[in-house]
Amino acid sequence: MKINVKRIPVDGEDLTGSEPPEILELSDTDVLFERPVTFDLHAQLQGHSLLVTGRLRTEVTLRCSRCLEVFRQALVVGQFVVLQELQGEDFVDLTPQMREDIILELPQRALCQPDCKGLCAVCGKDLNEGACGCKVKKEDLRWQALNRLKLK
Ligand SMILES: [Zn+2]
Ligand SMILES: [Zn+2]
Repeated sequence: MKINVKRIPVDGEDLTGSEPPEILELSDTDVLFERPVTFDLHAQLQGHSLLVTGRLRTEVTLRCSRCLEVFRQALVVGQFVVLQELQGEDFVDLTPQMREDIILELPQRALCQPDCKGLCAVCGKDLNEGACGCKVKKEDLRWQALNRLKLK
């Protein structure tokens, strides 16, 4: 997203709109950007610098690291700030900073919900949909191991 520096009035300029998800240059089967990046920014000139502040928002489709379900999550950059010194240029491209700040909002570990129960290690059932009955068997195995220890 390019700002025409020469056209910013003295009291600044409000900039709202959206950019296509392609500006994020990130497409992965587990991290998919399909929704536009909306921005609500205020640009102003401060001496020989351009100051842009505001908010960015988009949505990302992620794969849960526990249950492997695909889910969509909003990514919001609440305090987007760019302060750039001007050297006579007419346009300033904010795209690299937008990209960087949004990528930083990606969770370290994708979870469809904070307490996602994940998949059963035995039968593979999604435990968010209910218990599978494998837990009893696991306890049985533990008892068997304990009994074997006692016999020694
Ligand atoms: Zn999950
Ligand atoms: Zn199971």
